[in-house]
Amino acid sequence: MLIATGTTVISNGQLVDGNGTPPLPNATVIVRDGRIAFVGPSSEAPPIPESDAQQIDARGGTIMPGLVEAHFHPTYFDVAALEDLDIKYPVEYVTLLAAKNARLALECGYTAARSGGSLFNIDFWLKKAIESDITPGPRLAASGREICGVGGLMDWNPDFRKIGMEGLVILVNGAEQARAAVRSLVKDGVEWVKTYPTGDAAAPDTNDHHTLCMTFEEMAAVVGTAHNHKLKVTGHCRANAGIKNALRAGYDSIEHGTFMDTEALDLLLARDVPCVPALYFELASIERGPEFGLSQRVIDGHQETLDGGVESARMILRAGGRLGMGGDYGFGWNPHGDYARELTFFVRYVGLDPLTVIKCATRTGAEIMGRADEFGTLAIGKLADILIVDGDVVADISILENRKRFLAVMQGGIIKAGQLA
Ligand SMILES: [Zn+2]
Repeated sequence: MLIATGTTVISNGQLVDGNGTPPLPNATVIVRDGRIAFVGPSSEAPPIPESDAQQIDARGGTIMPGLVEAHFHPTYFDVAALEDLDIKYPVEYVTLLAAKNARLALECGYTAARSGGSLFNIDFWLKKAIESDITPGPRLAASGREICGVGGLMDWNPDFRKIGMEGLVILVNGAEQARAAVRSLVKDGVEWVKTYPTGDAAAPDTNDHHTLCMTFEEMAAVVGTAHNHKLKVTGHCRANAGIKNALRAGYDSIEHGTFMDTEALDLLLARDVPCVPALYFELASIERGPEFGLSQRVIDGHQETLDGGVESARMILRAGGRLGMGGDYGFGWNPHGDYARELTFFVRYVGLDPLTVIKCATRTGAEIMGRADEFGTLAIGKLADILIVDGDVVADISILENRKRFLAVMQGGIIKAGQLA
């Protein structure tokens, strides 16, 4: 990805640096050749002649790191039913939709994102196109097709329909097939292997949120093979036993982590494994599900998941664990573009303070991607992936939901979106 050349001085705003520390008023950030060269009080900024630098007036708003969407599905095209994912459109069209979603995420202030699973191998090639400046989008960590046990959550088409699921998921029976599935993903070039240790409220009859969809042996085989090839492993973990299986198998991150107990928490903390709750999805399913035909049983399951997920998220943070902010956007009731609703939700519904939520959505996101030395906080030497926001996001985090409030969305010092683009 191209980075800026020359010098840019951003001033007249409060600094929120992504570390969770209180905002610094009257701050200046100086960007030189796409990287942060100074960040601190304006009174201490080195003098730079006006003619030597591009000047950006933050208009009394907020200067902060670009957001990281830690559970991003660019290939999920705002489907109304899960079954639509693999059968509605061919790969050619889904690729175009994914490029559109990536552009939208960047416009929404998300300068980086980790895929939470991809149709076909689109995310890897989308990442390549973004890195090559062919299409705009967040810096991506790519996942590929997801791995699930036969008969598990993602195996929803009964055999008589003769509908394959090969664009979305690799279905496995036993450790040997689990190893083979990872090996096929190695060739696809992905960084993350997404698995389905458990079911979900979406499938109350066969694979509800307390059902296991992979055996421990299958999960351990996935991790062993993935780590051998330097890939990371994550999984859709709701049921308590599934969370523990994942942590004992050596997973690198946990998606959802819905029904934690103290034993699961201890396992999580022992290796400081990050968890991405993607929790506003549950509230959206409850509030908007009826419009999309979700049954009352499904909605009741989402309520139980919401309640469990809120408790677990609070417990993880209280114990010093790490949460990433990602929202599983890409469903009719939880569409692309609403990404920052997750942040507002965590402040207003879960009760976290805004600076903690911003830290989860910036620094922790970069840590999950394994790129915390490059971005995620505003610090000297890091890439200038910066948001300049018209308003005080600490006083009202919901400002981040409104992309009209962005003065600039910068990647590597280049303004890609916002009023100044
Ligand atoms: Zn997901």
